[in-house]
Amino acid sequence: MTLTTAPRGTYDIMPNQALAWQWLEKNIREVFLLYGYGEIRTPIFEHTELFQRGIGETTDIVEKEMYTFTDKGGRSITLRPEGTASVVRAYIEHKLYGQAPVAKLYYLGPMFRQERPQAGRFRQFHQFGVELIGDESPVADAEVILLAHDLYRRLGLTDLEIHLNSVGCPHCRQEYKRVLTSMLKAAAGELCPTCRVRLDRNPLRLLDCKNAACQGILSRVPPIQNYLCTDCRHHFDQVVALLETVNVKYELSPRLVRGLDYYFRTVFEILNKDLGAQNALCGGGRYDGLVEECGGPAVPGVGFASGIERVLTTLEQRGKLPEFSNSPNLYLIPLGEQLSAVAFSLATTLRRAGYIVELGNGRKSLKSQLKTAHKSGAALAVIIGEDEWQAREVTFKKMDDGSQKRIAVADLATEIVKLVHPSVGTSKMGKGSQERSSVDDLIDTLQKELAMVNHLVVPLTNCTNKEE
Ligand code: AMP
Repeated sequence: MTLTTAPRGTYDIMPNQALAWQWLEKNIREVFLLYGYGEIRTPIFEHTELFQRGIGETTDIVEKEMYTFTDKGGRSITLRPEGTASVVRAYIEHKLYGQAPVAKLYYLGPMFRQERPQAGRFRQFHQFGVELIGDESPVADAEVILLAHDLYRRLGLTDLEIHLNSVGCPHCRQEYKRVLTSMLKAAAGELCPTCRVRLDRNPLRLLDCKNAACQGILSRVPPIQNYLCTDCRHHFDQVVALLETVNVKYELSPRLVRGLDYYFRTVFEILNKDLGAQNALCGGGRYDGLVEECGGPAVPGVGFASGIERVLTTLEQRGKLPEFSNSPNLYLIPLGEQLSAVAFSLATTLRRAGYIVELGNGRKSLKSQLKTAHKSGAALAVIIGEDEWQAREVTFKKMDDGSQKRIAVADLATEIVKLVHPSVGTSKMGKGSQERSSVDDLIDTLQKELAMVNHLVVPLTNCTNKEE
């Protein structure tokens, strides 16, 4: 253990990386809004029993991956390993079932699983997801699948594969489990050690084992589809038909069961081709018994969860991540401490007008401030020197070609608006009359505010620059 290293499986998101996260989060929120989902923020930790019940005792997450501890009050607490159980708990606690027939909720935030860290797998990772609770129709399944698909498409991903299956209802699954167990028991000696243990506890989980020997045995097992009851078959056919009406391609994956116990009928994953072993962008499905299992009424539900890290890596690998910059529009360079007040006031005015402005340290030399301005990536440096200020002028230095010229303070607003577009806020630059007037508005506002700066009484005597 060391003080200067983040715990295994965790990492810091630094300011330059955070821009991509913010961009992705903004897109996620916009698409969720389009589909009518509202954000829910649940606690990072819950009572351990919620996850044991809600995820299932025989799942990998509950068996070996949860961060569980006893708090000072003697309660067993667990850092949330996924979002659905918490959302369902909140749905029941706030009696959302009594407010509207359907609740459409989304979440976005960190999750915790003590997994073996590897490429694309972390111990603190981030998920976003939706839960559509209260609608048992296949339209709800199709809408949730489409929502995830449309979001990835909007982000620029094209090689998407929707893998789709039905795990039936507890009734038809029971029969399939019986067939599966008896066939696999006959070949138990050839199964991997994990599957041998799972055989009695959760035989369905064997279906997605990646071990080659297990795969060989499983290829002889009939698909679950052969055992679906009439209602489950009909539901699945309708989900598929709905996806076809909107021309979304899918692949039937008879082996897809997903790790969690609560799935009912539809399960799906969306993959991006060639992302290596960890290539599922999201996974989800229907969970009609879960609300009841967690202590609520018998209300159906369907949802998905997607990994933010996974989506960002995919976008990067595909060259679809936009270039982000938080470089300032303007870098103000006061020469001398006395002029720092002028620069400070000017910076405030410009920031209020939507410009990203960095303020140099008036105690430093021109050379040193220019160096910092260059490093910051600013488009324009505004040098406020003693001589210039006495003549009510400043010097503009364009950072790309180094050209500079003196500008009268009275013309500052017009010149700045001409050279630099504000990065933040609603002002738009363009040729249309609407845009034109917003440019004029901006000049107007800046001019009024700058008049105040212009009248700043700065004692210019002793305006020395200490480093020069
Ligand atoms: P799950 O909740 O296991 O169905 O996972 C849903 C999605 O969350 C996956 O497709 C991944 O994108 C992401 N995910 C799950 N576990 C991890 C992890 N340990 N590290 C990073 N992303 C993860």
